[in-house]
Amino acid sequence: MHAFTDLATAAYCPRKLYYRLRDDDRATPAAVRRRRELAFRYPELVDPDADLSEEPIEPTPTAFRANLGCARELDAWDALCVPARTNAFLEGREAHGLAHKVLADPLSVSIVSAGSPPEQGAWRPQTARAVAAAKALSWEEGREVGHAYVEYPAHGVVRKLGLSTRRKAIYREAVARAESIDGPPPRLDGDAKCDPCEYREQCGVKTRSLRSLL
Ligand code: SF4
Repeated sequence: MHAFTDLATAAYCPRKLYYRLRDDDRATPAAVRRRRELAFRYPELVDPDADLSEEPIEPTPTAFRANLGCARELDAWDALCVPARTNAFLEGREAHGLAHKVLADPLSVSIVSAGSPPEQGAWRPQTARAVAAAKALSWEEGREVGHAYVEYPAHGVVRKLGLSTRRKAIYREAVARAESIDGPPPRLDGDAKCDPCEYREQCGVKTRSLRSLL
């Protein structure tokens, strides 16, 4: 049984998952929690009179509200603002963990990321986690869950993900990576993912910024 967060890390870098498991390092930093909490305050944040100057948002307040305006067009907007369950522990056949939101109608899950969104869809770690949570909910409820949401609340962005073959393959690859770890996997030397990685010093990779100095 894999933790959703471990599958997300495996989708990012198997070696990073090795370090996290070795160090039993699963704490959520306070800054990440603060950004995630924005996803539970949309009605307040979207109010044009709200003061966003102290909020941990990335774009300007105008751009942030414009993004939330797009999210409001989603059918699930009301359910995302008032989910049936929050921080719900789900246990599936292969994985378990927290879904930040469970939506009742249509049945779905949402994963909240403290990071920045890609141009479209979601990054691979959030995709793996969202598919894992959707599959676990489906297993618990005995019903198909056809899609999931990934929220990037520091940007006011919400993405709806259909559980496509490609996304299920990202999940399956993360499971296979997590199951195959019995020692340190190879480094992603020179990969852009290494620059923000908290393990880069002990990992010994040269970051791209360092490479440009050499
Ligand atoms: S520094 Fe790069 S290779 Fe090393 S654990 Fe982090 S992402 Fe993986």
